[in-house]
Amino acid sequence: EDYQEEVDISHFVTRPPVVTIMGHVDHGKTSLLDKIRSSKVASGEAGGITQHISAYTIEQSGQKITFVDTPGHAAFSAMRARGADVTDIVIIVVAADDGVMPQTEEVISHAKASGCPIIVAVNKMDKETANMDMVKAQMAEREMTPVDWGGDVEFIGVSAHTGMGIDDLLENILLQAEILELKADPKAKVKAAVVEASLEKGRGPVATVIVQNGILRLGDNIVCDTTYGRVKAITNDLGKPVKELGLSETGTVLGLNEVPAAGAIMVGQDSDKEARDIATKRAEHARAKELSKSTK
Ligand code: GDP
Repeated sequence: EDYQEEVDISHFVTRPPVVTIMGHVDHGKTSLLDKIRSSKVASGEAGGITQHISAYTIEQSGQKITFVDTPGHAAFSAMRARGADVTDIVIIVVAADDGVMPQTEEVISHAKASGCPIIVAVNKMDKETANMDMVKAQMAEREMTPVDWGGDVEFIGVSAHTGMGIDDLLENILLQAEILELKADPKAKVKAAVVEASLEKGRGPVATVIVQNGILRLGDNIVCDTTYGRVKAITNDLGKPVKELGLSETGTVLGLNEVPAAGAIMVGQDSDKEARDIATKRAEHARAKELSKSTK
């Protein structure tokens, strides 16, 4: 309600796609995310990759793609419910040896409900027991018919172990993104979605965000649900300090007074007073609501 979408089409530029990977446990979601990241980061920066992170941005053929790791399907739905639907494209990962499993079915329904274009990454193609046709048949039965079978879903065979098919997958993402014509306004008031947040020793509240509109800059006054503050430091997904995050880019932000919830929307304000006032009002409102609930 605080964020007035300042729609000025003349400012619109193409923004990079934000991609979520979902799949049945052990089908290789984490391995795939890690492989994509490590194979695309400049070799000099590889040292920055120390652990698995919740979001990162890579470059493929000179174009950016941001990947988000939603810890579970529940989190994905919760974020959507809160309006933080950061995802433009969903990748469903299915292990080529296991095929469709119960959680794959769940993921299919979540992905369909999101309305995002879906790409199926058939992982573990390096295995001898890999069976692409089996996966295609199982998916086709669930209204996910492959393009080469007359449907509209792209199936890409990949291996998170060998790296096979990863470039294909990324090129396909860019193709889908082109069709979507993703636009945003870099001159608008900044709006970013919180993917993850925590309290870190010596740093205070740290929020990992994805920029949805505008540009997030050092010194920006921000509100995020009932939390507020001034952007004190920004680090990119390699842990390097940066001065700003552009459209669809991800990084961590320091400077909020408290830890916001995942899915919260961070919005730029004109002054620190404005930011504080909005956050305080919201906190009071939330408290009043809690109180009326407990007295019922
Ligand atoms: P997640 O639960 O979906 O995140 O799955 P993980 O990424 O943790 O992978 C589950 C298991 O499958 C691990 O033992 C991985 O080493 C293995 N795995 C993942 N990708 C591949 C692949 O492309 N080929 C093979 N052979 N094994 C894989």
